[in-house]
Amino acid sequence: MPFEVIVGAILTQSVAWRNVEIAIANLKEKDLLDPVALLTAPDEVIEEAIRPTLYYRQKRRKLQAFCRHLLDKYQGDLTALFRRPLSELRAELLGIWGLGPETVDSILLYAGGLPTFVVDAYTKRIWARLGIHPEGIEYETLRAYFMDHLPPDVQLYNEYHALIVAVGNRYCRAKQPLCVECPLLVRCRYQPAGNEKSTVES
Ligand code: SF4
Repeated sequence: MPFEVIVGAILTQSVAWRNVEIAIANLKEKDLLDPVALLTAPDEVIEEAIRPTLYYRQKRRKLQAFCRHLLDKYQGDLTALFRRPLSELRAELLGIWGLGPETVDSILLYAGGLPTFVVDAYTKRIWARLGIHPEGIEYETLRAYFMDHLPPDVQLYNEYHALIVAVGNRYCRAKQPLCVECPLLVRCRYQPAGNEKSTVES
């Protein structure tokens, strides 16, 4: 199961979760949801399975880079990998080709059960609109903000991120956010360009 979660974390970048579910089902059907299988199967077979997640060539390479690392350094043992101290393991995973901080934090939190906060585009957008941080804030700065203000609690980080995703999905869309229905409206400083009052205060 943790390996499936890792595959999902790598495949989900820039695509809806529904597409990831289809890709994972394809990998399962072809017996490819396994690090050795992902390194030995023909590239085109893997790419065909994960095609619904877009950028499938790059994502195939990312999956294989992670699998190679897991097999070379931990003999495929995820328990041994997640036993490493969080900060050391995080730095190590960030060194794997193609894995950015959002993917790595998702792997650590959701597959490893380790207390690291996942920042995504919704987090950046909502926190900017609330007036807490500037729009272009760095990933690491925003992650540090959450981790400095919240206890290192895996369940809390998990639920907090899920709530951010829910607000981003339902209300805080990039265009025409549904501010009047948003639970964060009372403390939000968002001013839609050229129409300061209508969306937020109507
Ligand atoms: S009130 Fe509007 S801009 Fe503010 S967080 Fe909610 S949806 Fe986003």
